[in-house]
Amino acid sequence: MAFFVQKYGGTSVGSTERIKNVARRVAKFHSQGHQIVVVVSAMSGETNRLIALAHEVQENPDPRELDVMISTGEQVSISLLAMALTELDIKAKSYTGSQVKILTDSTHTKARILNIDEAGIRADLDAGYVVVVAGFQGVDEKGSITTLGRGGSDTTGVALAAALKADECQIYTDVDGIYTTDPRVVAEARRLNTITFEEMLEMASLGSKVLQLRSVEFAGKYKVKLRVLSSFEDEGQGTLITFEEDENMEQAVISGIAFNRDEAKITVLGVPDHPGIAYQILGPVADANVDVDMIIQNVGQDGLTDFSFTVHRNEFNNTMNILKEKIQPHIGARDVLGGDRIAKVSIVGVGMRSHAGIASKMFRVLAEEGINIQMIATSEIKISVVVDEKYMELAVRVLHKAFDLDQEP
Ligand code: ADP
Ligand code: ASP
Ligand code: MG
Repeated sequence: MAFFVQKYGGTSVGSTERIKNVARRVAKFHSQGHQIVVVVSAMSGETNRLIALAHEVQENPDPRELDVMISTGEQVSISLLAMALTELDIKAKSYTGSQVKILTDSTHTKARILNIDEAGIRADLDAGYVVVVAGFQGVDEKGSITTLGRGGSDTTGVALAAALKADECQIYTDVDGIYTTDPRVVAEARRLNTITFEEMLEMASLGSKVLQLRSVEFAGKYKVKLRVLSSFEDEGQGTLITFEEDENMEQAVISGIAFNRDEAKITVLGVPDHPGIAYQILGPVADANVDVDMIIQNVGQDGLTDFSFTVHRNEFNNTMNILKEKIQPHIGARDVLGGDRIAKVSIVGVGMRSHAGIASKMFRVLAEEGINIQMIATSEIKISVVVDEKYMELAVRVLHKAFDLDQEP
């Protein structure tokens, strides 16, 4: 007998038929004697629908009220799934995040989980119940409903698995595992049997939305055995996120390609090249709670330099205003330019540590397609480039081919 936390995403619970299908899958595991906690997302499209409603009423919806509303999507799913399980003669009980008591901080719309009261769930499991928990939501110490950021049901799943010490956290979704890149963009993408935790962390942080970044962080911190599988297929082992690079593992230099269109680029031109300038530019940006991603400062010439960085696209206008109104006049920069039609494409692989020439190969492949690289950032196991948004898919496809990701290693 094993104990699984199973998370089913939006597409997997996208209709009452599909919810019944999830109930049948859960029933099968239950009948094999396993203990199951199920975490579900809102039905596909529902969270977007609710957010759009809020925007019809308020241009910048009040975050507390927004959380009250967008958490309802998951509440519908848990009750329907509990009913479907009951119809199959399985004892089932649903809980919202606040009923479990998934305690979070008060950062509405992107709250962090602080603690989970697991005693109630444990008692239900021992009494033979399947426990169904709403993903994506929690409650802060004042009793306000919070949500965990888009894709946050993954994090609920992993956090519950950590708190309850489950044998495995299984993320059931509409693809049958983690692929070398998004299979919807590159048809030749290949499913990986395993991916290292470090690589998955990079992939998630660089834009692969198959797992929410925080869920991977949680899995790392609490050593949760995490697997991604299809909710539509019965066979298949999916992809296991592993903590060690063992010898039998697929030995590709590059394991995957991530991309995202969520960023915008800003360049401050003709900045006086003296100590403290990076702080004078980025300090006010940070004070406005804007996260900065890639940062590049050019070599100075004649006492002046250019300074570029990227921010989330949603923060582009806000950041441009801060720079133009507060920073440019203050530091005497020549101009502030920006563009939000960019994309970031990244290759990821632990094999990069022991192989030279990966960056030059990446740049050559892009050059051969006439794709201009606007920014570059590297770490030990990844190389990211910013390119014009219109070349993003082409870049991903040619890199996927050039690094033989379509071939078994
Ligand atoms: P869910 O609603 O189940 O949470 P998501 O849409 O959040 O599902 O995540 C699954 C999707 O992630 C897939 O449909 C796929 O298009 C996308 N995806 C992006 N990168 C990858 C990747 N490397 N491997 C698998 N899927 C990926
Ligand atoms: N329903 C939420 C979203 O759409 C959470 C999730 O699906 O994981 O982002
Ligand atoms: Mg998701």
